[in-house]
Amino acid sequence: MSGKTVVKNENGLVSRLLPAVCPLCRINAAPDAIPFCDSCLNLLQTLITEKCPRCGRAACACTCARPENSRALFFYGSGVSRRIIYYLKDGADKRAAAFLAELLLVSAGITVKRADAVTFVPRSKKRVRKSGYDQARMIAAEAARILGLPLVAALRRRGKGEQKLLGRKQRLEHALKQYETDPEVPEALRGKRYLLFDDVTTTGATVSACAKLLRESGIAQAVTVLTLSVTDLKTADGGTK
Ligand SMILES: [Zn+2]
Ligand SMILES: [Zn+2]
Repeated sequence: MSGKTVVKNENGLVSRLLPAVCPLCRINAAPDAIPFCDSCLNLLQTLITEKCPRCGRAACACTCARPENSRALFFYGSGVSRRIIYYLKDGADKRAAAFLAELLLVSAGITVKRADAVTFVPRSKKRVRKSGYDQARMIAAEAARILGLPLVAALRRRGKGEQKLLGRKQRLEHALKQYETDPEVPEALRGKRYLLFDDVTTTGATVSACAKLLRESGIAQAVTVLTLSVTDLKTADGGTK
């Protein structure tokens, strides 16, 4: 997304005239420094403070039905949560990714002292070819830049196939077959504390499998999972991730 409409005047000087439209509502203007409009930001603020129906905590503190060391920025469900996730899936907006990555790091209390390196759950090659980029990688890259930590493509996708019809335990086994670690991760980036990023998690099977692979390969000494969104418990049973 361009910040503002760019025009050249008769002297060839570039000036920016019209404010950017908020990509979430496509109605209001978004300010220069922030990618979304005030109204969408208010919705996002409400979303971030929404409480889990089981433990009464916000998404950044709730660990119900997910791996222990896992934090999310918001619960997936309401209109604005879907708009954010779909928007990031559809277009590589680095500014929005950086804004959301920073909010996630702050909400989850992650500082550079708590990690050594950053990685992500990779999309399938087919999906990356289709959209031209990988949104989990983009969020991870922005988080790595903010923290000043290395971004490491430590995981690779290998299998394909849906896991919709599987039970909880089978989902983890299936997810373990879908990913593998990259044997070429350099020695200097092994045995470190990793932050593992994804955009959405539903049952936690994918992130659990990826964290397990990172630990068992010796690449990670510890893994903290960070996702933008997590489905709440009411919808978790029908999930595919
Ligand atoms: Zn808006
Ligand atoms: Zn909870």
